[in-house]
Amino acid sequence: MFKKILIANRSEIALRIQRSCQEMGIATVAVHSTADNEAMAVRFADESVCIGPAQSADSYLSMRAIISAAKITNADAIHPGYGFLAENADFAEMVEAHGITFIGPEPKHIKNMGDKIAAKKIALKFGLPIVPGSGGAVENINDAKKIAEKIGYPILIKAAKGGGGRGMKIVNEKSQIEDNFSLCRQEALAAFGDDEVYIEKYLPSPRHIEVQVCGDGKGNAKHFWERDCSIQRRHQKVIEEAPSPVISEKQRIEICEKAKACSEKIAYRGAGTFEFLFQDGEFYFIEMNTRIQVEHPVSETICKIDLIAEQILIAANEKREWSDTPKKMGHAIELRINAEHPETFMPSPGKIENYHAPGGLGVRVDSAIYRGYVIPPFYDSMIAKLIVSAPNRQLCIARAMRALNEYAIEGIDTNIELHKKILAQEKFKNGKYDIHWLENSLMQAQQG
Ligand code: ADP
Repeated sequence: MFKKILIANRSEIALRIQRSCQEMGIATVAVHSTADNEAMAVRFADESVCIGPAQSADSYLSMRAIISAAKITNADAIHPGYGFLAENADFAEMVEAHGITFIGPEPKHIKNMGDKIAAKKIALKFGLPIVPGSGGAVENINDAKKIAEKIGYPILIKAAKGGGGRGMKIVNEKSQIEDNFSLCRQEALAAFGDDEVYIEKYLPSPRHIEVQVCGDGKGNAKHFWERDCSIQRRHQKVIEEAPSPVISEKQRIEICEKAKACSEKIAYRGAGTFEFLFQDGEFYFIEMNTRIQVEHPVSETICKIDLIAEQILIAANEKREWSDTPKKMGHAIELRINAEHPETFMPSPGKIENYHAPGGLGVRVDSAIYRGYVIPPFYDSMIAKLIVSAPNRQLCIARAMRALNEYAIEGIDTNIELHKKILAQEKFKNGKYDIHWLENSLMQAQQG
């Protein structure tokens, strides 16, 4: 087992990883930028190393600085968290080349799944249903037109290296395809350094449902059921829950078993997520994330498991049990609390003048903020995750509302009021919405 782990991340996920390490008796090293000198994960770590200035490019994304910090502190392993270097195959390779364990999948899996075209090919080969589309890169406008005619409009042009909900263009009819095709390529090149694009059928009204898996890298894997992440804004998740309120037990078992089987066939190592769109009773694979995800606590809650500990145990080659599927219990909902204006969504960094986190039965808050903490303007605006659990969905929603009412964050704007509005909607309570519902209902509310 590792004696010391360096956590190459910040904020709530750095603290989350640190908590598991502490419970497992593993020493921790926090790395941080100069903007994060006062961070909770830095204070609670056994050792900390400042790796650069506030800008992520020179600190949290600096592979050399992070590996040097691991060498200086004698860390046995590096946990990348999510974002930053978590899905950078070169980083994983570099870490291993320095004799340090990378807590995550093999570089080849990071690389293949990071390329959406390659990922879809793998998914198809190993039995996952995919969205009808080009099947590979689309080189020119004539090919794009032919494929669009074949699968039928509307279509989606997507950047092969895209991410974070960016690099996608919807084309509703033939007359729009030329402009959108070249625009998508230009934008893909500017944003992701690669102008390769592919085409998919655009699903007008899907849910986003994903399956959490873990594998040992030797052909054993298990799943931890699904999460429904259909409450989104600009393709970014706002609320996640488990189990999904819209699929049958039969559909659930089928898709989870398929994701598990695919993980086994590719001999996947560590934690990962297969993301699907779900519409009219059918699942369509869209991508795999080869890391721990923001919304992992939802699965931890219903499966009563520590997924970060699982990642660490797998990376350390410890014996795990692979034959059983975890029992799922009750319902869990995660609400992402962002430092942003609830209506304009403008980021709202600054000092937290007053802070009171909710508590009580079934309430978990994953956050690294506190009274007096100054949220720096340089990073993601998510400052806390409120995770609520209850025996069923109805009680879970009531508990989430109660917890939101207790939550006091003063001095900055947050989206707490937006969450209350969402939870109060009949459509949310009935589970009857698709991935566009939040944005459409927000727009209507603003216009009205
Ligand atoms: P990213 O890596 O940028 O998150 P994804 O391929 O996972 O990209 O897609 C992000 C979101 O875009 C999905 O959750 C969904 O909201 C939407 N989306 C992706 N593909 C389609 C599609 N074929 N039809 C409709 N919506 C889609």
